[in-house]
Amino acid sequence: MAKNLDPKCKQCRREGEKLMLKGDRCDSAKCAMVKKNYPPGAHGGNRRPRQSDYSIQLREKQKAKKIYNILEKQFRITFEKAKKQKGDAGENLLKMLETRLDNTVFRLGFSKSRSHARQLVSHGHFTVGGKKINIPSYQVKAGDVIKIKKINKKIKAFENLKEKFKKHEAPGWLNASAEDLSGKVLHQPSKKDFDMKINTQMIVEFYSR
Ligand code: SF4
Repeated sequence: MAKNLDPKCKQCRREGEKLMLKGDRCDSAKCAMVKKNYPPGAHGGNRRPRQSDYSIQLREKQKAKKIYNILEKQFRITFEKAKKQKGDAGENLLKMLETRLDNTVFRLGFSKSRSHARQLVSHGHFTVGGKKINIPSYQVKAGDVIKIKKINKKIKAFENLKEKFKKHEAPGWLNASAEDLSGKVLHQPSKKDFDMKINTQMIVEFYSR
């Protein structure tokens, strides 16, 4: 499976924003956006150049791809599907990204980051409605119940999961149960449920050029 191998903190520095790609470290003083808030590279300097409209749209699209940890081809396919749905293409796109199984696993609190969730899903650790699903892009829908297939104690992510679950606050479209370590999709996410600010209008404009 192809993936973005760029160092995560460099990706944030390129976008000039905390993209929260590294779990707990992102909230600590070790975050590279605290220590080196300037573009990476020898010519990064300590200021960001003025951007054209095109470059603002491009950066917003790149930012969304990095947050949801997907590559251009799949992002474009998702956008095309979002455009065909009823309603606002940008909002549809965010909904589709948010309801990916890997993102849902992350938002429920099973993993520390989206990339970690993707790895756990690909390794077949989760079931949806009782069926093993190992496709990170799988779209969950209202009523779906996501569970760990079998708690493998050798996997660090599953240590003290009940405690982690209790402390974690799942978004309104999901209901996480610390009792049986499961999560239920209550309804489709809406604008207020997204944890990251993404200007979807810029993405729509980028692909409409
Ligand atoms: Fe981004 Fe997290 Fe690295 Fe900070 S620690 S730069 S938020 S990935």
